[in-house]
Amino acid sequence: MSSQRRKVLIIGGGFGGLFCARRLAKVDVDVTLLDRSAEHLFQPLLYQCATGKLSIGHISRPLREEFARHSNIRTLLGEANELDPDARTVTVLRPDETTFVVDYDVLVLAAGMRQSYLGHEEFAHWAPGMKTLDDALEIRQRIFTAFEIAETLPPGPERTSWLTFAVAGGGPTGVELAGQIREVATLTLNNEFHSIQPEEARVLLFDGGDRVLKSFAPDLSAKAGEKLTELGVEMHFGVHVTDVRRDGVTVTAKQGGAQQQFETRTVLWTAGVEAVPFARHVAEVLGASTDRGGRIQVEPDLTVPGHPEIFVIGDLVGRDRLPGVAENAMQGGLHAAACIRRDLAGQPRRPYRYRDLGSAAYISHGNALLQVGPIRLSGYLGWAAWGLIHIAFLTGVSNRISTVVTWLASIARAGRYHRAFMLGAADRPEQRYTYSTWDLPEPAPPEYR
Ligand SMILES: Cc1cc2nc3c(=O)[nH]c(=O)nc-3n(C[C@H](O)[C@H](O)[C@H](O)COP(=O)(O)OP(=O)(O)OC[C@H]3O[C@@H](n4cnc5c(N)ncnc54)[C@H](O)[C@@H]3O)c2cc1C
Repeated sequence: MSSQRRKVLIIGGGFGGLFCARRLAKVDVDVTLLDRSAEHLFQPLLYQCATGKLSIGHISRPLREEFARHSNIRTLLGEANELDPDARTVTVLRPDETTFVVDYDVLVLAAGMRQSYLGHEEFAHWAPGMKTLDDALEIRQRIFTAFEIAETLPPGPERTSWLTFAVAGGGPTGVELAGQIREVATLTLNNEFHSIQPEEARVLLFDGGDRVLKSFAPDLSAKAGEKLTELGVEMHFGVHVTDVRRDGVTVTAKQGGAQQQFETRTVLWTAGVEAVPFARHVAEVLGASTDRGGRIQVEPDLTVPGHPEIFVIGDLVGRDRLPGVAENAMQGGLHAAACIRRDLAGQPRRPYRYRDLGSAAYISHGNALLQVGPIRLSGYLGWAAWGLIHIAFLTGVSNRISTVVTWLASIARAGRYHRAFMLGAADRPEQRYTYSTWDLPEPAPPEYR
């Protein structure tokens, strides 16, 4: 590779970064794709991993494998930590906490969002969010361990609290998790215990609005609500979760009124998102404006004002109320790559135009919603369309094949074949036999300069 070629640094190998890098393969530039994880994660199926339907291997693909055949693309593992826009360098933290520096001519920021606790970071201690593979594995551990602990307790309030699951947020992720936990209880575990009746597990879903899946048309979200009720999910609307404790949650009506307490040992948080810390650092260093969630305001071509060499794509874009969906990230990645190619050809850049290709949400086995323009599907038809779309976008042929095979097997036997979870190694005293790190001191957050 010639050192004269332009160096493109893409931070984040999610949907935006992946599509940008793919489009730059074979282009006359040297691409570095940096991610703090070694793999691309297919977030839309995280909840299936969290509830034992799919393994982490089904929904992720090593970035190194993805780009192994492209000599102009190198992938690096590390967390971007500091941007120097004058020197055009990014300092990166290795997993052993040492650092190295990567320089660039063009920077594409595709680092995505993380879970937000809306000003109550302390809730994270008790209520995991769902954005990463670690989150999915932690949620899996908590759900299945809760049933195990309940089995060892006599009937009474403590046992009931282990069999009560609370989900904050009635968007697609909250709906998917709530429905799946009821299916775990009624279809997967129903014949496996002697003392408890797993199907008696309560699943509570809390949302500040007046319906689930607000981004869908009212008739579709009403259908989703009916199906969730049929599954046994208890929905509470017009409320905010205002406290999360080791043994329960408090919810408060948005319009004022009495608080309600619910005793539960498992709380899952899907109620908000915010920019990852490095994106906030970038905005600060560049003096760029952001919205409340930390999305960065950009020019029509998705570059930061005053920095035509820095693109922001995907969930981090704060412009035109673009949705935080995979399609916007993929199109943003393709757009940034197209601009880089036009620069090389001496042609003017074009503004970014997002084409809404619709949305889909899984409700339960045999039931999903699909909304594409005037087309609205639900029930089995929606489910079939949902399945086809997800398989089409899953990264890697082997992941697609193995996911279809696993789905077919679980449809045939109502089974979940990826329920394994870890509880600490017996021969390591520093690893206590616990299913959570709840009582351990919270680690210090990394420093962003
Ligand atoms: C549970 C869940 C379900 C979803 N379901 C759907 C769905 O059904 N349909 C849909 O369209 N959308 C869905 N989404 C939204 C969709 O996944 C996102 O819109 C999309 O992933 C955004 O892509 P992105 O490239 O902006 O960020 P991401 O895909 O989040 O990728 C960001 C990448 O940046 C990396 N990163 C972060 N910080 C750093 C750093 N400092 N240094 C290096 N790397 C870093 C991360 O490791 C990650 O790989 C879902 C999201 C979640 C969480």
